[in-house]
Amino acid sequence: MRQEQTIRAAVDCKGVGLHSGASVHLRILPAASGSGIIFRRTDLDDFEIEATGRNVARVSYATSLMKKGVLISTTEHLLSAFIGTGIDNAIVELDNLELPILDGSARPFVDMILKAGIRKQRRPRSYMRIQRELELREGDKFIAVYPADTYAVSYTIDFPHALIGRETFRVELSNGNYLREIAPARTFGFLHQADAMRQQGLIRGASTENAIVLTPDGLMNPPLRYQDEFVRHKVLDLIGDLALVGKQILGSIVADRAGHAMHTALVSRLLRDKTLWDETPLEDSMEESHQAAAAMVSNSI
Ligand SMILES: [Zn+2]
Repeated sequence: MRQEQTIRAAVDCKGVGLHSGASVHLRILPAASGSGIIFRRTDLDDFEIEATGRNVARVSYATSLMKKGVLISTTEHLLSAFIGTGIDNAIVELDNLELPILDGSARPFVDMILKAGIRKQRRPRSYMRIQRELELREGDKFIAVYPADTYAVSYTIDFPHALIGRETFRVELSNGNYLREIAPARTFGFLHQADAMRQQGLIRGASTENAIVLTPDGLMNPPLRYQDEFVRHKVLDLIGDLALVGKQILGSIVADRAGHAMHTALVSRLLRDKTLWDETPLEDSMEESHQAAAAMVSNSI
């Protein structure tokens, strides 16, 4: 039986929000089994917002949670790191409205979690096992989930740029694949859109230190970490958004040019329609794989 996990000790970091540009101090703390991921605004009397699809707020360039008018913004990279390292329970304290962007990927969060250490808890982990397929379409955007024995994600993007074009990346989240193939992939943006986005106040914290910046025919800040880093980052985002179902998933996700709004639409449908899945423990090597990968990465850094 696989058990729930939390971190062993508190860890923290400082950074700025990609969209707000606001300075923020973030601290991750261990949490009791069954609590899930809980965000806490220390600047607002420790107001707490659970990381669940029921609290999803407006979603455009990033995923935000809102409860009673209190906002937590850009949750997807940290939530992705929790899924990738097998953390079920944690408290995330922040003293501002947006999570820090750090280097634009999930790797700094993974490093923090590995530095804190992972602690197995008594309670068996219950997975969301997909029983029936669900497909959502919106124009040329598509996202679907199908039954599977493991958690697999396939993503396709299509940008008219010499370095991107049509790219597909498929990954099964076992054997350390998340840490090796997904966590280091950084967010990206196009220089020709930057001025307009900056004027709308959408990327106040963006810089060449925390995003891949694409010029009309190349890169402003080479090198890439992977030749197909762009589509890998979309996989990272998708995993972080789907974490809002509140469980590890056993299912195969297929997305084509989906984006945060469709990711969270899938979460809402899954939470609303309980005939699509059941809750089950797991007798399998997924969690051991996470730990083997964690040991491997901590040895290499
Ligand atoms: Zn992202």
